[in-house]
Amino acid sequence: MAERSGAQRPRYLVFPARVARAERLGPSFARITFTGEQLHRFGTGGDDQRVKLALPRPGRTVADMPSGENWYTRWLELPDEIRPTLRTYTVRAFREREAELDIDFVLHGVEEGHGGPASTWAATAAPGDEVALLGPDRPGTGRMWGCEWSPPSTARQLVLAGDETAVPAMAAIVESLPHDSRGVVCAEVPTAADVQTWRSPRGVEVRWLVRQRAGGTVPHGALLEETVTEVLGEFGSRGGAHSGLEDVDVDTATLWEVPDSGPASGEVYGWLAGEAAVIKRLRRILVQEHRVPRTAVAFMGYWREGRS
Ligand SMILES: Cc1cc2nc3c(=O)[nH]c(=O)nc-3n(C[C@H](O)[C@H](O)[C@H](O)COP(=O)(O)OP(=O)(O)OC[C@H]3O[C@@H](n4cnc5c(N)ncnc54)[C@H](O)[C@@H]3O)c2cc1C
Repeated sequence: MAERSGAQRPRYLVFPARVARAERLGPSFARITFTGEQLHRFGTGGDDQRVKLALPRPGRTVADMPSGENWYTRWLELPDEIRPTLRTYTVRAFREREAELDIDFVLHGVEEGHGGPASTWAATAAPGDEVALLGPDRPGTGRMWGCEWSPPSTARQLVLAGDETAVPAMAAIVESLPHDSRGVVCAEVPTAADVQTWRSPRGVEVRWLVRQRAGGTVPHGALLEETVTEVLGEFGSRGGAHSGLEDVDVDTATLWEVPDSGPASGEVYGWLAGEAAVIKRLRRILVQEHRVPRTAVAFMGYWREGRS
């Protein structure tokens, strides 16, 4: 997509929204459909379009969420007990005519009583509940408008890999791929009942990796590491030689390494998202062990174990 002129660039706005419907997709996922008059103006520019969700603090309302151009500064200035909680989510689907936007929430830790504010909210969300969504008001391109999926026309093989938090983005991407696309998607989920059915092109194989096994639960990310290694072997990418890779301390920095200037080039294009330490290990597998050019892969730490 060509870069838009300054006058056409999207604005990043606060959209008041309320829950229209809530549906369980499986033990670990809830789909919340949001609606709101202003959502008619929401603009999504890509298949992994992200938004921020603003949730009122307990006992407060969404009226606490500042709006307007300088919402962020005003949000920062609010006292802790009033400042709405912000979390990042992917737009699973947007229906402009109905002004409806779906987000698929992972319900991590809710049953065990240690869910985060967003997963706990999603587990009990009911029609009429009010939140705010932050996103672009018209389609844009690239990072600042919240989409990273940008395969070059030279890509012959796609590799997508992610845990359950990346499942909504991978689903939206797969369902919009051209029919002649080729590649493999590795999707790691907690249980077999979380496996979803997507419309995917014939040449795109989706490998569901289920952590819960008869004999116990496989550690988060282990199946992704094993399967991505297998896939790269099947693609015939060379192992062994190292290309430079500086370390990222995922406890102090965000792991967010995406092709910088316009779409990448090359035969393999990768999109990887999930728990930051897992993505860091996958990054080593791709870049150091299989010599996939870093410029051909988006590596995204969507969350970090033990951190909000
Ligand atoms: C671009 C982007 C897109 C995203 N899209 C989605 C999406 O579509 N759906 C979705 O569910 N998530 C998505 N996420 C991840 C989501 O933002 C995080 O999981 C977020 O931390 C959830 O907020 P919370 O309030 O529930 O938990 P927090 O308050 O942030 O965290 C509380 C505790 O839970 C842990 N935790 C957080 N997430 C998980 C998890 N998934 N599994 C296990 N433990 C966890 C944290 O490490 C922390 O210890 C996305 C993140 C990014 C950056």
